[in-house]
Amino acid sequence: MGRRRKSSKPPPKKKMTEPLQIVFPCPFCNHEKSCEVNLDRTRNVGTVTCRVCLEDFQTPINYLSEAVDVYSDWIDACESANQ
Ligand SMILES: [Zn+2]
Repeated sequence: MGRRRKSSKPPPKKKMTEPLQIVFPCPFCNHEKSCEVNLDRTRNVGTVTCRVCLEDFQTPINYLSEAVDVYSDWIDACESANQ
């Protein structure tokens, strides 16, 4: 106890400053890196939107969900819709 001095400068928050750009290939228009995933942690909704053909998809997420989970949900939904 008492070894930590109160530092005047807080450590820089590197993680929060850079927005995470996660892009995936689109199953509709086949453009690479055209789909962006947005994770809305407050509403627990994940959204994928293609910048090229404007297809989008929403799925419920939880605190463990990551962008790739939302994307693979979309692919699953596409495949089951095609059957
Ligand atoms: Zn597309």
